[in-house]
Amino acid sequence: MPETILETKGLTRRFGGLTAVDAVDMVMRPGELVGLIGPNGAGKSTFFNCLTGFYPPSEGEVRFLDKPITGLKPFQVAKMGIGRTFQNLRIMPNMTVFDNVSIGAIGSLGHSLRRALWPFNCLTDNEISQRTWDILARVGLDSLSSELAANLSYGKRKYLEIARALATDPKLLILDEPAAGLNEQETEQLADFIQKLNREGLPILLVEHDMGLVMGICQRVMVLALGKKIADDTPEAVQQHPLVLEAYLGGEECQY
Ligand code: ADP
Ligand code: MG
Repeated sequence: MPETILETKGLTRRFGGLTAVDAVDMVMRPGELVGLIGPNGAGKSTFFNCLTGFYPPSEGEVRFLDKPITGLKPFQVAKMGIGRTFQNLRIMPNMTVFDNVSIGAIGSLGHSLRRALWPFNCLTDNEISQRTWDILARVGLDSLSSELAANLSYGKRKYLEIARALATDPKLLILDEPAAGLNEQETEQLADFIQKLNREGLPILLVEHDMGLVMGICQRVMVLALGKKIADDTPEAVQQHPLVLEAYLGGEECQY
């Protein structure tokens, strides 16, 4: 097993004169559940988008499972094994819950799909179907499989989005503000679910604006402010960190 799942060195992304992500070094090890927090505008989503191929970094390097992935396209990054969700839900409202997930599974089964196109082999449909059912059961949406995604509650749609990411059979899952818009009880349920996924062996990078969720479940927390990493420690230590207190309490929003 590689020593690191994900590693960035000097990762930087500029937009014109603005440095949204500024020389960030980070490491994630196998099995970790790591939080990435920071006030609004800290650069979390930009960092995330650089990891997943949506934005090419201006400088620096990203390695996944000991291989360089800097500059790869999103579909290549997904194929390497990084699953992600989006801050704004990207599910297809007019498709069923089942189809939303099976599309993700098809994308990840490149070889099998090719076999499926071979006229005498229908095994792949079964494989895709089986995987889709497994994932729906894992996220608790199996009883809603034939419902249109548009009819799901906002909270359930979040699980569908995670189900879609799981359908690509990721070796690392990155979640961008999964608790945004959820009430306290829904956030607690989601926290339990994220922890359960992690205990099953999936490394997770949880990008969140809200400290509460992250502090409760993550083993380690990194903090971004104005594009720079200002802390990387246990949740307890991070909460006492002067720069973190300043970033959160000194900004326009107070999280605790
Ligand atoms: P966060 O996710 O932590 O709220 P973002 O990564 O979305 O922060 O944004 C970091 C900074 O980069 C902000 O100042 C934001 O306005 C800027 N930014 C993000 N995306 C773009 C873009 N596509 N073009 C220009 N500026 C951007
Ligand atoms: Mg964001």
